[in-house]
Amino acid sequence: MTQQGVDLLLLSVGADLPYFCGYEAMPLERITMLVVPRDDAATLVVPELEMARVTPYSEIFALRPWAESEDPIAIIAELMGKATSAALGDQTWSGFLVDLMTAKPNTNFRRASTITSAIRAVKDAEEIERLRTASRAVDTIAGRLQRGEIPLIGKTEAEVSAELGRQILAEGHDRVNFAIVAAGENAASPHHHAGSRKIAAGEAVLCDFGGTMIGSDGVGYCSDLTRCVWVGATPDRDYLEAYAVLHEAQAAAVKSALVGTPAQAVDQAARQRITAAGFGSYFIHRTGHGIGVEAHEDPYIIEGNQEPLVSGNAFSVEPGIYLPGCWGMRIEDIVVATDGGPDPLNLADHHLAVVEA
Ligand code: ZN
Ligand code: ZN
Repeated sequence: MTQQGVDLLLLSVGADLPYFCGYEAMPLERITMLVVPRDDAATLVVPELEMARVTPYSEIFALRPWAESEDPIAIIAELMGKATSAALGDQTWSGFLVDLMTAKPNTNFRRASTITSAIRAVKDAEEIERLRTASRAVDTIAGRLQRGEIPLIGKTEAEVSAELGRQILAEGHDRVNFAIVAAGENAASPHHHAGSRKIAAGEAVLCDFGGTMIGSDGVGYCSDLTRCVWVGATPDRDYLEAYAVLHEAQAAAVKSALVGTPAQAVDQAARQRITAAGFGSYFIHRTGHGIGVEAHEDPYIIEGNQEPLVSGNAFSVEPGIYLPGCWGMRIEDIVVATDGGPDPLNLADHHLAVVEA
């Protein structure tokens, strides 16, 4: 905050708040706001009826519950004092920002991520272990998929998605963030919404799923894994050939994720191989995203991001090839850049599994 000339940090709904104080605000019309002055103690302004959910950390923040008949914007405005520059949580409701701008016409507002994302992007040893625990949990589910223990043939995408969701919770997550199940040509849409299409033998199914595991301190860490399985006896030759390219590209990108390497070089490592095999125009997204308390956060593994990876960066490496009307494929692992080299948190088999169930 000192470096950037910011007087105040204001955090509401979104992942910054639990990251810094262990409390997750309800996404309600009643405002919750952690007010952090640069040179003074922090205060959590919280609806009185939510107080029971707050774990007090008096050494980190004071509490200012507000009653139903009070004006919480006036309370926050007073705590803001003479601040001329305030950084506001990116996911704070715009209505609250409008109210604060009206109450504090002389304050300039900017996104809190200009301050918080660089801090969150570097994970310490404990955070890495929490991410590893979440990653291993989804690896377990991927293993069942790959061994044919999760029935696919005759099931709808939505039914398989619901089953993945149940297993994500059963394996220790507190929240399901997504469970994409895309069969056959539907997999050509990277974020396909699992629907009523039935899975049949003779096609591939792409599964991309993850959740959040919340620790006893109220802070949650995410998992995110993609694997494809071929349903039926023998995979089509064109699919197998493309899969071999993707497999090699994903492994090369993981290997390139060294401390000091610009983030975009990891994207290039995957993209060059996919392009050389003639599938460049079918790889229609960046190679990855950071992961931590949010499923998508800094650093982004994308062309143009010249920021060098630092030890403790955790991110996905997930190249894909999407042939419209035919099929789609993606392989995704979470990887941590460390001084000892890339540390892949997901160990589920990368080969194309062939299942007959
Ligand atoms: Zn994913
Ligand atoms: Zn991802």
